[in-house]
Amino acid sequence: METTFPYEVPQREIYRYLGYKQEVPQENVLQKIESCKANLFRDVTPKAIWQYYDITWQDANTFLLDGIPVCSKNLSRNIADCHRICLLAVTLGPMPDRYIQKAEVTAMSDAVIYQAISAAMIESYCNYINDLIRKEAAEEDYFLRPRFSPGYGDFPLEFQRQIGDLLQMSKKIGITLKDSLLMMPSKSVTALIGLSTTDSNCHREGCEICNKSATCAFRRI
Ligand code: SF4
Repeated sequence: METTFPYEVPQREIYRYLGYKQEVPQENVLQKIESCKANLFRDVTPKAIWQYYDITWQDANTFLLDGIPVCSKNLSRNIADCHRICLLAVTLGPMPDRYIQKAEVTAMSDAVIYQAISAAMIESYCNYINDLIRKEAAEEDYFLRPRFSPGYGDFPLEFQRQIGDLLQMSKKIGITLKDSLLMMPSKSVTALIGLSTTDSNCHREGCEICNKSATCAFRRI
């Protein structure tokens, strides 16, 4: 079946989201994965928006972003020497939620598979956009720190509201926030990325799998 999702999605990541560690699923599960993948790859149209901002530090744990105070010890450590950041919002759009909700009624095991594939897809798409931002930043001699999302460590989940307002993410890419701060579509991500003039050689997928995390002064948590 023809697919249109043009970003590499590692099969191993799908297995991992399904709870498989090193082993490969049985043939019947593999077939189901392929048919759910074909549906999602054909129907999902991902979208992203990002903007750069200068920030002003107030103290070691607080900076001003477009006049908004942001207070987080974990985030501030991660972007400690940065005076410029990128705000980012990405989404897979409504189709994964539609497939998941439909499967929850007809075949729960399919819903689990749709969840796993779409989780791997949003991660892949984030990495793809991250690489675009890395190239843009490099043109101005900046290097990226890893993505840091609201709700991670002590960076308040409420900051998703500010990101939503600053990026106009509802109007521009269709992400809305519920009162609970959950995003709709559910396969959406917001994040802040520090731009530094120092190259820390950060791992694109973050500090958890970076081989420098034991000694790095900027590690996320
Ligand atoms: S631990 Fe690695 S990825 Fe994290 S801030 Fe340090 S160098 Fe970057």
